[in-house]
Amino acid sequence: MTDLSIIVPVYNEASSIPTLYQRIKNVLINLACSYEIIFVNDGSRDTSLTLIKDLATSNPEVKFIDFSRNFGHQIAVSAGLEFSSGARIVIIDADLQDPPEMIASMYEKMSEGWNVVYARRVQRKGENFLKLLTAKVFYRLLKGLTSTHIPVDTGDFRMIDRKVANAVLQMPERHKFLRGMISWVGFKQTYLEYVRDSRYAGRSGYSFRKMIRFAMDGITGFSNLPLKMATVFGFIFSAIAFLLILYTLYARFFSNDYVQGWASIMMISILFIGGVQLICVGLIGEYLIRMDANLKQRPLFIINETNIRK
Ligand code: UDP
Ligand code: MG
Repeated sequence: MTDLSIIVPVYNEASSIPTLYQRIKNVLINLACSYEIIFVNDGSRDTSLTLIKDLATSNPEVKFIDFSRNFGHQIAVSAGLEFSSGARIVIIDADLQDPPEMIASMYEKMSEGWNVVYARRVQRKGENFLKLLTAKVFYRLLKGLTSTHIPVDTGDFRMIDRKVANAVLQMPERHKFLRGMISWVGFKQTYLEYVRDSRYAGRSGYSFRKMIRFAMDGITGFSNLPLKMATVFGFIFSAIAFLLILYTLYARFFSNDYVQGWASIMMISILFIGGVQLICVGLIGEYLIRMDANLKQRPLFIINETNIRK
């Protein structure tokens, strides 16, 4: 059994891979443990795969999984987990935003008896204002919505042990939110703080759409509150509507209190309630989409080629 597996999801990261490999290698040499580096090529359209395969030819500890297309970051990491053999596993981004040097301190921390050591971002370099703001809001919203303790300002950069990995691998959902799933399984978890660097090269593979989808995976995966909110809203608005109906009847039959523009005010409330209803239906749809994906039981990913024998 290998001591340490390092999982690197890769989507168009050709310009980072050589430096990333060197930096990981430098850390591991000092750790004196056996290791494997698993690159999961998630349908890159640049030369990432060639670089990875070249590394694998000259270094037996380099493993790769090449997907048949882009399946997404969370799936790439899940595939790495499934194919890993290490007693401990590190998940790290390929773009060097997560400093590989931290692996050494995580390794040390784990030996104090922890099952998970995650990295908490105290500062994020090179991200635009919108990304910082949406991330901040999202992590706090999620915290408010869920009863699973999912740490704020934390990505997937972390070290986990085999027990945790096996527990996560037992979770069958298709829409993965790994940082939540790892929290959900329990065990002893702690964190180290770090400053998240800016990208070494290239651009983010997380488009705005992917980010929204990922956020919805986090919320729907770990909270049913949005579904219940529909009911709560329903009751609140029905109560208000009932009072308004009484008032309308009173105004119509017992007073001459007819106001110009009444209709438009009614229109506003109709539009408003219509909007609330659509949001609620949409939220139910989000859960249905995920139920549908889980029921279909499709494979999570399709592999084109790998040098890992399971
Ligand atoms: N990534 C991936 N598939 C994707 C998008 C991203 O495997 O569809 C990888 C990417 O190569 C990187 C990690 O996931 O190693 C984090 O992605 P990125 O840096 O683009 O996200 P950001 O840091 O901007 O949130
Ligand atoms: Mg990044």
